[in-house]
Amino acid sequence: MTTSQAATRTAGLRDRAEAVIPGGVSSNVRLLAPRVFFERGAGPRLWDVEGNDYVDYLLGQGPAFLGHAHPQVTEAVARAVRSGMVYGAQHALEVEAAERFIAAVRWPDLVRFGVSGTESVQGALRLARAATGRRRLLRFAGHYHGWIDNVLMDFGAEGGRPGTLGQPADALADWLVAPFNDTDALAEVFSAHGEEIAAVIVEPMMCNQGAIVAEPDFLEALRALTTAHGTVLIFDEVITGFRLALGGAAEHYGVTPDLAVYGKALAGGWPVSALAGREELMGRFGTGEVNHSGTFNASVMAAAAVVATLEVLTEDPPYERVAEHGTRLRAGLAGLGDKHQVPLRIQGLPAAFHVSFGGPRSVGGSAPVRDLSGLRELDLVRYAEFSRLLAEHGVWVAGRGIWYVSAAHGDAELSDALERVDAALTADTG
Ligand code: PLP
Repeated sequence: MTTSQAATRTAGLRDRAEAVIPGGVSSNVRLLAPRVFFERGAGPRLWDVEGNDYVDYLLGQGPAFLGHAHPQVTEAVARAVRSGMVYGAQHALEVEAAERFIAAVRWPDLVRFGVSGTESVQGALRLARAATGRRRLLRFAGHYHGWIDNVLMDFGAEGGRPGTLGQPADALADWLVAPFNDTDALAEVFSAHGEEIAAVIVEPMMCNQGAIVAEPDFLEALRALTTAHGTVLIFDEVITGFRLALGGAAEHYGVTPDLAVYGKALAGGWPVSALAGREELMGRFGTGEVNHSGTFNASVMAAAAVVATLEVLTEDPPYERVAEHGTRLRAGLAGLGDKHQVPLRIQGLPAAFHVSFGGPRSVGGSAPVRDLSGLRELDLVRYAEFSRLLAEHGVWVAGRGIWYVSAAHGDAELSDALERVDAALTADTG
């Protein structure tokens, strides 16, 4: 294929997509991303329809934690679906998936599988309200818990406002919003409203904006205050689950929630989510007091993908490898920032970190950003533009700055990625 034939292929696909798919994309998160059409993914790399390869640090927004098309997961799903896919009833693989899940995460008593993080969050909020008989909910500025009316929030305004046209203005009326990592503010909210709050939901590491780790005392204060006030503590582990550790953020931080929601890395790229937690809460689904349903919940392919992914994660735990790769990658990126004299800022954990440019107020400052207001001082617009340049140079990352490392990334990807970032920075600053 010549270069112009290849470029025509992308343009042709873009035109066809825009003719039949709103905006040419199937999720609004992709509207601002470069309009690349991929043909193939294997391990830590992607190939587009023009034959260009990319070192992938987006991982499909996180799910491809084992790398793309992991052979053990792919084979397991293919083998399983040959004898059936959706029964609308129970099957042995579903039981094995749940057993393996509980054995891996350890603290929950019970688990229900779903299809998306968004819907499992809904189950968690409903359970918390059912168990407490309370309505109000508390969350943190900048955290994301799905795209449904009662959770989608734009944090441009103090306290948050609806995130989209079409979202009823009162859909968010039950939310209280506090700054992340601010133990004093948290204590104030609980002293004013503690007895009204059904649940607190938190991304234990704030990853949807920035990659902001919880400070040591914050999650502990959250645990203590929720326990004291009879409020259900929900960890939204959709990003952190199975990524920071086999037991997710709960294991990483040593703080145990009452309920937690998982997705992304749980099933090696297959669309599977989970809601897990203590028996006295989760058991309410089992008695039928609280409804949780879904045609595709724990389908054969979902169960097979969970079993195979958890087999891989427990038999050959990748966490040290991922941490080592992430640490070297971060050091390499920081070195390139120095070489090109650009204020590159990197923070988070090796498995998931955030890259941005310092803003006018933060240039030179190396203290980690602690919350949304700190994040706003960075030059996120410049980084978003730079991420497009990275794509042109063969590094596939999110425009919002998060970099995810997979179990499949190795030395070859590290050196390719750094060489390509170097070239992109030369193009950017040259
Ligand atoms: N919660 C968090 C922390 C997420 O990052 C996401 C998605 O990115 C969700 C919930 C929603 O999950 P899904 O996109 O699978 O519906």
